Amino acid sequence: MTSTIAPPSADRAACARDGGPPRRRTRVFALPEARWATAATVLFLLALPLQLAGAPAWAWGPLYGLAYATGGWEPGWEGLKALKDKTLDVDLLMIVAALGAASIGQVMDGALLVVIFATSGALEALATARTADSVRGLLDLAPATAVKLTDDGGEQPVAVEELAVGDTILVRPGERVGADGRVLDGASDVDQATVTGEPLPVTKEPGDEVFAGTLNGTGALRVRVERDASDSVIARIVRMVEEASETKAPTQLFIEKVEQRYSLGMVAATLAVFFVPLAFGVELTDALLRAMTFMIVASPCAVVLATMPPLLSAIANAGRHGVLVKSAVVMERLGQVDAVALDKTGTLTEGTPRVTDIRPMAHSPYGEGELLALAAAAEHPSEHPLARAIVDAARERGLDLPQARDFTSAPGVGVKAVIDGRTVEVGAPSRLVPGSGHPASAVAEGLEESGRTAVLVLVDGAPAGVLGLADRLRPDAADTVKSLAALTGSGPVLLTGDNPRAAARLAAEAGIDDVRAGLLPQDKVSAVKAMEDAGRKVLVVGDGVNDAPALAAAHTGIAMGRAGSDLALETADAVIVRDELATVPTTIALSRRARRLVVQNLVIAGVFITGLVIWDLAGTLPLPLGVLGHEGSTVIVGLNGLRLLRETAWQRSAAEGTL
Ligand code: ADP
Ligand code: MG
Repeated sequence: MTSTIAPPSADRAACARDGGPPRRRTRVFALPEARWATAATVLFLLALPLQLAGAPAWAWGPLYGLAYATGGWEPGWEGLKALKDKTLDVDLLMIVAALGAASIGQVMDGALLVVIFATSGALEALATARTADSVRGLLDLAPATAVKLTDDGGEQPVAVEELAVGDTILVRPGERVGADGRVLDGASDVDQATVTGEPLPVTKEPGDEVFAGTLNGTGALRVRVERDASDSVIARIVRMVEEASETKAPTQLFIEKVEQRYSLGMVAATLAVFFVPLAFGVELTDALLRAMTFMIVASPCAVVLATMPPLLSAIANAGRHGVLVKSAVVMERLGQVDAVALDKTGTLTEGTPRVTDIRPMAHSPYGEGELLALAAAAEHPSEHPLARAIVDAARERGLDLPQARDFTSAPGVGVKAVIDGRTVEVGAPSRLVPGSGHPASAVAEGLEESGRTAVLVLVDGAPAGVLGLADRLRPDAADTVKSLAALTGSGPVLLTGDNPRAAARLAAEAGIDDVRAGLLPQDKVSAVKAMEDAGRKVLVVGDGVNDAPALAAAHTGIAMGRAGSDLALETADAVIVRDELATVPTTIALSRRARRLVVQNLVIAGVFITGLVIWDLAGTLPLPLGVLGHEGSTVIVGLNGLRLLRETAWQRSAAEGTL
């Protein structure tokens, strides 16, 4: 792995070009299937001219024999193993057909079948490997070793797997960061494109978080390791996509179920095609030849290959653009979506709000600084974007945060903790003091009127003050809303736990008409359920713990990767790693494209199979032509699916939503 890390400059250029990490490709001859197929082809091409030139059989016979062996042993062996498990493998039928052809003297035809069959097998393997490559390209970016600093100040190169949480590593200029962690000292610009997709390097100073696989600029950093190698952000990304590639789409499961019965029926039909004419006095060789041809052209190879390559290619392509679709099932479902529900904070907005107003109550014993410090101390353990904003504001003012005990948080409401013996609650004003009679509510409403999110701070149950926070709409929010409306035929709905005034203001900016505000997590679920009951297939996009139930209840759920809580990431069916909202409509369009390709493939496969079968039964289909038609259609279907791996497939999908 180490030897493949590209020099930083080339790497950066690659990232700038296609917005993803550089890709490495599997060499054709690294695949055993390709080597065997080549051997079979060469042997066949040696034997054929000898036979055509009228050389004696001992000269070309053994060459054909070797071609059968090199091209056919693997699928034959696999087929026999499958037979032991009582499944009938189509590959085995192909080998039987080839041997059958040889047995009636059609040695060349049989060899041709084996050669083309092996070649299409090799192409399939190559296709699979290329798909896997584009995923693994991500993992290759994480270095294999890191420089660990020992207690006595020494430097020790170690494998990243051996790093433990709490170790300190040294990241030199130009090196890739070896682990997820926090900067202890040093300052540098780090290129995080591999994880966040941001093309501009980010300045890292003590206290900042760094990620494995990101590229250090010109400074040296000492980093405290905070996550095991297997748990790093980049490793999790790769695992998700790999798991996705191992799942099977419903269409594929259906096809495989049918395939078994079809194969058995096909064997029965082959026997009929052989014995019935025989009974009517047709010659043995002719009957056998027709039966062999039938068995080959009726095989469902192309049908089996119709579904997964388009879906897996789409998954790989989306992965390159920072959209992790967790399974082929999800990739198939995404295109069915006809309604979208968006969360506000952290999804439509950047989720990095700032504290803009600090309003202590008139008769409260706490001043601005104390109010902020108490709120920040209580929020410190929370993962909520508002909590982070409040803690940051306190830090910026150099306030000391007292220790919090007995922390609890209620998603969509707020937090509660005991600080220096006082119970401090921070959260939504309407939930903490219901009704609007209180002076604190009036302050909150005033702030909300100007588009702020207001949070109330209660100390021992009495309002101590109100904090106003402002968040920014993501730059691509309005365009995304438009694209989603165009794709699904109806405008997205905004579901938020925030107050109706701030929500309405933001929705207007984003171009959303349908706003449901003041929702608790379970209300978000009810809203989604109601839409589903009305026959809609709802996509929920969210980031927070409070969105997790709705993500689970929806037809499909997408979580924001960077702003998102771990729970949301776990629950969602797909994750947008770089928080680029615009990738949501693109992925829907890509999924639809994949579904169209599946249908196209099934039609191609069906037309070839029926056409060739009719030709064989009603006329005389020469065996080599049958082989060409059958294998040709299989290859066409396989390659057709791979078209979705290309960059243009993504770009066209991106354009679809903007029409
Ligand atoms: P959204 O649905 O827009 O993502 P949430 O459901 O997470 O928002 O939060 C809804 C409201 O609940 C917030 O506007 C805030 O008033 C309150 N709230 C939730 N969590 C917290 C917290 N940790 N600190 C302060 N207020 C919170
Ligand atoms: Mg949210």
